[in-house]
Amino acid sequence: MIITEPSLPFESFIERRALSLYGGCVQPDAVVVGTGPNGLAAAVTLSRAGLKVALYEARKTIGGGLRTEPLFDVDIEHDICSAVHPMAVVSPFFRQFDLASRGVNMMHPSVSYAHPLHNGQAGLAYRDLEATCAHLGPDGDRWRRLMKPLLDHSRELVDFIMSGQRSLPRNPSAPALLLSRMLAHGTALAPGRFRTEVARSLLTGVAAHAVGKLPSLASGAVAMLLGHLAHGTGWPIPEGGSARIADALARDITAAGGIFHTDHHVTSLDELPRAKVVLLDTSPRTLARIAGDRLPVGYRRGLARFRYGPAAAKVDFLVSEPIPWANPAVGQAATVHLGGTQAEMFRAETAAAAGIRTQEPFVLLVDPAQADPSRARPGRRPVWAYAHVPNGDTTDPTAMVTACIERYAPGFTDTVIHRRGVSGAGLHAYNPNYVGGDIGAGAMTLWQSLMRPVPRFDPYRTPLTRVYLCSASTPPGPSVHGMSGYLAALSALRHEFGIRTPPDLGPLPINR
Ligand SMILES: Cc1cc2nc3c(=O)[nH]c(=O)nc-3n(C[C@H](O)[C@H](O)[C@H](O)COP(=O)(O)OP(=O)(O)OC[C@H]3O[C@@H](n4cnc5c(N)ncnc54)[C@H](O)[C@@H]3O)c2cc1C
Repeated sequence: MIITEPSLPFESFIERRALSLYGGCVQPDAVVVGTGPNGLAAAVTLSRAGLKVALYEARKTIGGGLRTEPLFDVDIEHDICSAVHPMAVVSPFFRQFDLASRGVNMMHPSVSYAHPLHNGQAGLAYRDLEATCAHLGPDGDRWRRLMKPLLDHSRELVDFIMSGQRSLPRNPSAPALLLSRMLAHGTALAPGRFRTEVARSLLTGVAAHAVGKLPSLASGAVAMLLGHLAHGTGWPIPEGGSARIADALARDITAAGGIFHTDHHVTSLDELPRAKVVLLDTSPRTLARIAGDRLPVGYRRGLARFRYGPAAAKVDFLVSEPIPWANPAVGQAATVHLGGTQAEMFRAETAAAAGIRTQEPFVLLVDPAQADPSRARPGRRPVWAYAHVPNGDTTDPTAMVTACIERYAPGFTDTVIHRRGVSGAGLHAYNPNYVGGDIGAGAMTLWQSLMRPVPRFDPYRTPLTRVYLCSASTPPGPSVHGMSGYLAALSALRHEFGIRTPPDLGPLPINR
């Protein structure tokens, strides 16, 4: 199923129309293709350095993975892609950009994420570490020993993972902590680390955000990063939806003179205006297509070898009441992992990575109104859930995902007013960056996490003069952190303009 262009709320329509019509006659210094969080972060960085920036976006609206739109009912907005933003509050780019001071209000549930089991038990990751440890009973001390040192070194750990991963960290304690925990929880040793299934599955559900074979070292790193943030800066939801983040970035770009051209799918570099630099917030496959024969054969082969991971197949629901979880405590969380036991998740995730479809895949569910009541109206609230399925899968996931939720929340189906499924292939049709439905912009193996898209000292520079890749297919990889765009822009500023000092990204008086 293909997502149709939803109708926009009037204000957003006017605002974005204005963005696309504004200016247009000035020769840009820099062109950015794609307006996902990384394209927008790149444009913010370049325009703050004093460059004239023009952005091109294939769809009618900007935002990439940051779109929030009504689907079934004009009053209820749904996040089309991302919904929960642990990285948008901690990444070095967003720390400087400072979403809070630009009016983006992050809403926190008391439980960052929950993991119900079939027997009625549920793991709850409270924002409060001690409350989590108390809830985990016999595994409480182990959970504290795992998470507390990560929390104590949270800033160094985040900065290490969010770096371009090409320089040695000044302080080796965070990488050492991370490595020891990846070895313990991202390998065959994982099942022995906790005594109870509740704790084992609670952590494994976070590892499953890596969308790939389980266990694996890459998924271990993801579990440590997101897992410890759940007890620190949290897993917040922006009030009003993810598009509020894109809006704040776009306001900064237009205030600095940037120009948006929407509804323009770029198929060749020749279509773009002459500019001193071009940054592509696209997949490596699109880079190869739009640069064509200009790329050296070796680099093109490298891009062709880039592997894409399993797909997400998503269902958006409009429901009449809060989800009737069998274990009511689960309702304290906005993010819920539906994957069963650790062994079941290992099997399902490994099968999806191997291209095998299972009837009970891992499902990630978000109930945004739990954290942000403004998202609901009496008798209507949005719910979003996606299953991990093989890359390229064309099956409508609606029945499978509904049945999965029903297993943990009997009666859920009766609350559904509207629902809409988008297969992995449908997600690709919606956004060419999700190749085959891979929302991670490339398989999350340890090698590809470090060496995306091809092994190069500067992963953002392509062999073409003045052409850079700035999407999540470059380090540090997927999620809404803006760092791929920011680091690519810094590289372009250094190499093409001789600007070595990163620009100030803090709010201008006009953005406050
Ligand atoms: C269903 C789903 C749920 C997710 N949930 C979360 C979440 O809760 N939290 C989180 O942090 N992350 C989440 N993610 C991942 C997150 O959205 C991505 O990692 C992030 O958006 C990647 O940003 P990007 O800028 O690299 O690319 P994208 O956000 O994919 O943006 C790329 C943009 O470029 C445009 N484009 C591509 N090719 C061209 C072209 N040739 N010409 C013109 N325009 C082009 C596309 O239309 C798109 O707008 C989710 C993703 C999906 C799909």
